[in-house]
Amino acid sequence: MSASTRIPPIAQPFVSDRAKKTLDLVEEFVEKECIPAEALFSAQLGVGEQRWKTNPAIMEDLKIKAQKIGLWNMFLPKSHFSQGAGFSNLEYGLMAEYLGKSKVASEATNNAAPDTGNMEVLAKYGNEEQKARWLTPLLEGKIRSAFLMTEPDIASSDATNIQLDIRREGNEYILNGSKWWSSGAGDPRCQIYLVMGKTDARNPDTYKQQSVLLVPASTPGITIHRMLNVYGYDDAPHGHGHITFKDVRVPLSAMVLGEGRGFEIIQGRLGPGRIHHAMRTIGAAERAIDWLIARINDDRKKPFGQPLSSHGVILEWLAKSRIEIDAARLIVLNAAIKIDQGNAKFALKEIAQAKVLVPQAALTVIDRAVQAYGAAGICQDTPLAYMWALVRTLRIADGPDEVHLQQLGKRENKSRREEVVKRVAWQKEQSDKILTANGFGKTKSLL
Ligand SMILES: Cc1cc2nc3c(=O)[nH]c(=O)nc-3n(C[C@H](O)[C@H](O)[C@H](O)COP(=O)(O)OP(=O)(O)OC[C@H]3O[C@@H](n4cnc5c(N)ncnc54)[C@H](O)[C@@H]3O)c2cc1C
Repeated sequence: MSASTRIPPIAQPFVSDRAKKTLDLVEEFVEKECIPAEALFSAQLGVGEQRWKTNPAIMEDLKIKAQKIGLWNMFLPKSHFSQGAGFSNLEYGLMAEYLGKSKVASEATNNAAPDTGNMEVLAKYGNEEQKARWLTPLLEGKIRSAFLMTEPDIASSDATNIQLDIRREGNEYILNGSKWWSSGAGDPRCQIYLVMGKTDARNPDTYKQQSVLLVPASTPGITIHRMLNVYGYDDAPHGHGHITFKDVRVPLSAMVLGEGRGFEIIQGRLGPGRIHHAMRTIGAAERAIDWLIARINDDRKKPFGQPLSSHGVILEWLAKSRIEIDAARLIVLNAAIKIDQGNAKFALKEIAQAKVLVPQAALTVIDRAVQAYGAAGICQDTPLAYMWALVRTLRIADGPDEVHLQQLGKRENKSRREEVVKRVAWQKEQSDKILTANGFGKTKSLL
């Protein structure tokens, strides 16, 4: 059964024939080209310092193959951009699921974060000069980029805390401050940083203090101090940088959209990006299920004389994993449909639901597969340990679960409390009336 025949019924009416054909191509490309190429990608990366200087040749081969069959820039939704491959958020979401099965597939098709979000920013908010200089080579997959918001000395889940100072002097901006978790900054091809800082720290409106600047990575005054590990993985050549800015000068033309528009930009950037992450995470969980099935049917390994598939608890793991991932997929596809029907703002609630639910569901599924492999599951011989580490970060990156839950809870309470309180009171009153009319006394409930 090909990918297009497995599209959940709820999504089918919104998927074009062209998207279905492309989805099948994505599945084939990921299963037959990308997953088998992962070992070579790791081997070509090598060890030590070389890992930060190499662009594995296999990646360029895969990019050529992907472009040849039309798998390129599918992430840019047709409703808002003319530069992409012409798919909706939902259609790309279905494709992103397959891309998420392989650690090389997203870059091979030029759909990798953080470039995707950065390209959306440039396409949506950049002027013609900024687009020509940065968006065009990014769309062509010739350079890479990073988004620098998080800082080491403040609680960055509240972006109003950002401190990096941006001062205007003559026809230049001068930047001073520190950033960390700057994903992608380790890649030798990373040429452009989108940097969020404060141009107007005294503005009484705390959402108008921030701005985003386009800063070439080679600008004097920028120092990359180190690359941060994710549970011991370096994520080379991409990496997560700890970077400082000391009197870094850029021309006024580096400003995106205008001073004080930083919040608007990050909000526009993160909505669809969260859906992309969520769908890729569904793909990672599907790969974990593939590996779980492979292990429980491995005839060489029969604890207590039986393959694992004959042990009831293991089949229960498989069943629960299937239920949880199928349910999580529906939540993401629903959010994608809602974005397509309006925009990311219109789908805030659904996006937050997917952002919270999917990594948690996927972690449970990956963890079951790890357990089924015993000690092998936690070492480098399966993709499971790395996938677990990667997915675990999504409960923090792009805003921790708690922040999204707080916002969801607030919104649910605010939008429903009046109507719900009234309705419950009315129902109680009606119950009492019915009880009394039928010869019973009023309910003794104190609530
Ligand atoms: C792998 C990875 C890649 C990343 N890539 C990038 C990147 O490319 N660019 C970038 O700018 N940043 C990036 N980040 C950073 C990420 O976005 C931040 O780590 C995140 O926003 C949280 O900020 P913080 O780490 O400062 O945590 P803090 O703000 O210090 O929060 C710490 C903890 O406090 C709790 N908390 C916070 N708010 C609340 C609340 N309202 N209620 C209850 N509890 C709360 C949460 O448990 C939270 O985890 C990345 C992070 C990771 C792990």
